[in-house]
Amino acid sequence: MAQNLAGRTAVITGASSGIGEATARVLAAEGAAVALLARRAGHIEALAAEITAAGGKAVACVADVRDRDAVLRAADSIGAALGPAHILGNNAGVMLLSPFHAGKVDEWRRMIDTNLTGVLLVTDVFLAQLVAAQGDIVNISSVAGRTTGPNSSIYNATKWGLTAWSDALRKELVKASVRVIVVEPGAVATELTDHISDDRIREGAQGFYDSVGALQAEDIAAAIAFAVGQPHRVSLNEILIRPTGQAG
Ligand code: NDP
Repeated sequence: MAQNLAGRTAVITGASSGIGEATARVLAAEGAAVALLARRAGHIEALAAEITAAGGKAVACVADVRDRDAVLRAADSIGAALGPAHILGNNAGVMLLSPFHAGKVDEWRRMIDTNLTGVLLVTDVFLAQLVAAQGDIVNISSVAGRTTGPNSSIYNATKWGLTAWSDALRKELVKASVRVIVVEPGAVATELTDHISDDRIREGAQGFYDSVGALQAEDIAAAIAFAVGQPHRVSLNEILIRPTGQAG
């Protein structure tokens, strides 16, 4: 593979599984040094070791994106190990589907704090570095940030919010020449649905993923690598990717 991203450092949140893990692998294979953020130390340390053994550059930083102090500490250790960030992949997220009337307030808060406030906190921490580098911010939103559905109202609210914020931020950062790219996957086979606490809704979601022929995490990672690998004059503002078998 061409080392299209050589000399760039990419910070990827939620790199311990799914889309974040696959994105870290592909960006590292394209020559980027990658900083892996997540809460599960064992997963990101194993991935960092794998990337390093393959000749790449990677560091694992345990951080909860809801905890600004933890993100600041992670940024310090990333800076010391890899230098300033050129690419930020805001990928960490949770999808805790439930009917609104079930009143699962703790799950609402986890989604809002992770999918929306967490992205804002992490972006704020790395923004000065990204502006200095004329870098890239890649926000992993969702088809759920364009459509709505029953049992998904709070998840929808976080992803619609993320998509809207991304476009406003893109406009703010045009003068700084920072690209803001929003990626909107449809169903992707990852651990995302495993955390749904309502058995019936979890099984329904997993059945839906099977029925539409869910994408692989690597499919999304390839689109992200394509976007950040474009010449700097090209800003792929928005990438909507559904499985071929998914209608809505
Ligand atoms: P996974 O569950 O496999 O990955 C989610 C990642 O987020 C994990 O690495 C997890 O790591 C991390 N994470 C969750 N909460 C936190 C937190 N508080 N602090 C730091 N990291 C956190 O699912 P996906 O790979 O599918 O999800 C990645 C993104 O893609 C999410 O934003 C999701 O909404 C989005 N998406 C996914 C789709 C799908 O169908 N799979 C479709 C559309 C969008 P850890 O637990 O170790 O902290």
